Amino acid sequence: MIEVNKAIEIIEANSTKMPTKHIEVSKALGYVLAEKVISPIDMPPFRQSAMDGYAFAHSIRHQYDIVGTSQAGDHSNIKLNTTEAIRIFTGAFVPDSADTVVMQEHVMANKDSILIAEMPEKFSNVRPKGEQIAKDAVVFEANTLITPAAIGFLASLGITEIEVYKKPKVAILVTGNELMQSGKKLKKGKIFESNSMMLEAALQTIGIEKTKVYRVKDNLKATKKALSSILKKYDIVLVSGGISVGDYDFVKEALLQNDVKELFYKINQKPGKPMFFGSKNETLVFALPGNPASSLTNFYIYVAPAVKNKMGFSEIHKPKVVRKINSEIKNDTGKTLFLKAKYDETNVTVLTGQSSAMLNTFAIANSLLIVPEDVEVYKKGQLVSLLPID
Ligand code: AMP
Ligand code: MG
Repeated sequence: MIEVNKAIEIIEANSTKMPTKHIEVSKALGYVLAEKVISPIDMPPFRQSAMDGYAFAHSIRHQYDIVGTSQAGDHSNIKLNTTEAIRIFTGAFVPDSADTVVMQEHVMANKDSILIAEMPEKFSNVRPKGEQIAKDAVVFEANTLITPAAIGFLASLGITEIEVYKKPKVAILVTGNELMQSGKKLKKGKIFESNSMMLEAALQTIGIEKTKVYRVKDNLKATKKALSSILKKYDIVLVSGGISVGDYDFVKEALLQNDVKELFYKINQKPGKPMFFGSKNETLVFALPGNPASSLTNFYIYVAPAVKNKMGFSEIHKPKVVRKINSEIKNDTGKTLFLKAKYDETNVTVLTGQSSAMLNTFAIANSLLIVPEDVEVYKKGQLVSLLPID
């Protein structure tokens, strides 16, 4: 049995990054950059008007003759003298001879001339060339997550392909004779299998869209055989259930017989103690407890950071939030507690119903309150650290 922080450390040390690949920017949402990106152009590529209005060379004059128009997309470099202005629109090219744009709302205009009622400061409403980024400057460093905004920015620079880390292929192996797939009528003694759907959904929140689910009965031979082929095909294997000490828990033995190297087994925590972590070649194996709340807790604490590490994220742990606790929490277990909790702007409430079998509380929680093994009490009103969950 090991401590939580040691388990986190071992997982981090063993979850090496995936190989990289070239990908179209339009398909790169949720991937992480494997190398920095350099801008091929200045953005904006030319001096742009930020307003619909009039461009002119700033002076003490308020009256200007209108001698032309610059619409978005035009590029006529009209030479303005000190008494001249042009009609201009948002995003349009500002001629070299103009330095300022006055917005149309601040102007009295007739067909041929304008009178500026509210004089803007020099250089107002002109976006300088390269204001967002200069040619050859770094757009993004390696290990940046590709978000919708990042895709927009890359597209605006004309970048169509980038180098990213591949996403790990993940399989879930579900064990348990008592499990039935939902959609059928529940038989006596059985329960609906829920961990696979839950873990798939949790994986989706960190960018793993597709997960393959396999199922076996509580049987050593079948578990061993299933694992043997799964281990060859996937980067990460999550096993659900069968990792405890019951007479029908065969997962650990099946893993060891498949030459999975044990990196740790059992963690000094509640819930989620019976967990195995191991590796075979580059494949990581997390054998998670079958109890649904334990399974999901360990997903957030151990699996998610490992997946993110493989995906190339620089920050693999979610930032913790700190809140005032609404009630006293005692910990006489000597274990790290992960308590389902709900926080708001100022406080956190630990929810009633912390059993490892119960998802009803988890489903309305927005965080896990972490009570380290050496903390015996959190007093009411004390500041505590929480892991937000989606
Ligand atoms: P185990 O870890 O296999 O001993 O299972 C612990 C508890 O979790 C038992 O009550 C199981 O019925 C339940 N359980 C195991 N696997 C699942 C699953 N995939 N979906 C829902 N409950 C499960
Ligand atoms: Mg079981």
